[in-house]
Amino acid sequence: MRAAVIASGGRYEISEVPDPSPGPGELLLRVTACGFCGSDVKARAAMPAGEIMGHEFGGEVVGIGPETTGWREGTQVAVLPALSCGRCEWCASGRVIHCPQVRLVGLGGSGGGFAELAVVTAAAAIPLAPGIDPLYSALVEPFAVGLHIARTGHLTEGDDVLVVGAGTVGLTTIAWARQRGARRITAVDPVAIRRSAAASFGATEVVGSVEEVAAGTYSFVAECAGRASLLDACVTVARPGGRIVMAGVTIEPTPFASVAALMKEVSVGFAVYYTPEEFRTVVDAFAGGQIDPEPLIARWVGLSEVNEAFDDLANVTASAKILLRP
Ligand SMILES: [Zn+2]
Ligand SMILES: [Zn+2]
Repeated sequence: MRAAVIASGGRYEISEVPDPSPGPGELLLRVTACGFCGSDVKARAAMPAGEIMGHEFGGEVVGIGPETTGWREGTQVAVLPALSCGRCEWCASGRVIHCPQVRLVGLGGSGGGFAELAVVTAAAAIPLAPGIDPLYSALVEPFAVGLHIARTGHLTEGDDVLVVGAGTVGLTTIAWARQRGARRITAVDPVAIRRSAAASFGATEVVGSVEEVAAGTYSFVAECAGRASLLDACVTVARPGGRIVMAGVTIEPTPFASVAALMKEVSVGFAVYYTPEEFRTVVDAFAGGQIDPEPLIARWVGLSEVNEAFDDLANVTASAKILLRP
């Protein structure tokens, strides 16, 4: 098969590599579509040569491993890119990212979607509902991220919502806030094209910095930018009893003046990944029209354009997802 494999310096080389073959409990997929993600930009320099990245993808089942029952070829699936043991308490509760044996697809644990073929466990393959365009399989993952954030902070009807950062994570969080009946949705992003994307996803107000929003007025605040200084800013804008969900990734230590949070009795949660049930909820929402994935697509590229797509992503020239059709 053809694949974009990591060469030196985080660049990709389009090479012919051996086809993967499915083992017990696994499926072979012909990749239909795969998204490029901000975490790929950050992670690629740390990936070993030969790695196949890509964790936002779906495909058609074209091979079924031994002892894999209940599947037939031709089924279109979205991939939950965390392959887990299926037997521990975390797997039983759906929080597969906490499984001690978890392998991250496309991020060093198992080959990902920047290739014509990929092997995943059957448990990580979530069938698309009939009628969903198979190309949308790559967008189930980003919308599951937003749903997991909304669920972690119990986002509900009538909430006044502030979303800090209008990259893909922020945009899908905004989409779920609108779908769940938020009263007011303010999006914060310094980049103009992201602010206009936020408005088209349902933000009722867009601003360039968190200092511009009124203190003490939001019942739900999602930090989707990954800047260490933002936790204090989130506490400032939250109203008493507000729920704050930290979803941005930063390795910087985070300064935190806890007295402000204490006096408001805010709760601060953290959200990462998603559950199989959340993947199924996204699939149902695509099928039922509650969530329209189309606006998340910026453009399509082929395998030979992977390096250019990464350059665009690193320079924030696109407001939404660049997607690969291998
Ligand atoms: Zn991602
Ligand atoms: Zn497990």
